[in-house]
Amino acid sequence: MTLAVYPGTFDPITNGHLDIVTRAARLFDRIIIGVFARANKHLFFTTEERMGLARQAVVHLSNVEVKSFHGLTVDFARQEKAQVMIRGLRMNADFEKEFEMAMMNRKLSPDLDMFCLMASQEYQFLSSSLLKEVARLEGNISDLVPEHVAEALRKKVQSKM
Ligand code: ADP
Repeated sequence: MTLAVYPGTFDPITNGHLDIVTRAARLFDRIIIGVFARANKHLFFTTEERMGLARQAVVHLSNVEVKSFHGLTVDFARQEKAQVMIRGLRMNADFEKEFEMAMMNRKLSPDLDMFCLMASQEYQFLSSSLLKEVARLEGNISDLVPEHVAEALRKKVQSKM
């Protein structure tokens, strides 16, 4: 049985993340989305909120669950007994950073393998930070996130006004 973790900040989960996790769910037996539980004033959503939004987004994927973690992603993967860590790669934004991170992770945890999926064309430009910027300016985000995430973003923007 192959267990993979998919770690990230997921502030909030987007259709880009869901594209990766949906495709990965066909390749691995079980996937745990790891929501990084860091206190950071730049985050829009609390850890609980980010987990809730992610859970609702993957409710139809029976082999995917959502947990939070602190500290190093390799330690989270070890704790969960995962053999694989999944990452999504956008053409310009991610390669160098992910390559560096993969090398460091390999040093820290030689048994854990990184598995990178290329982002689908329609989500190449989509990042949680750009999404939040568009939501803040009340732009249309309906194609970029599930409906419940769009709703949570609208509420959050209003509460910050
Ligand atoms: P972090 O940047 O803190 O790792 P994110 O939540 O932004 O966390 O991303 C988690 C993972 O999802 C990373 O591997 C990232 O490259 C990938 N990812 C983010 N946005 C997209 C997207 N639009 N398409 C595919 N993968 C993505």
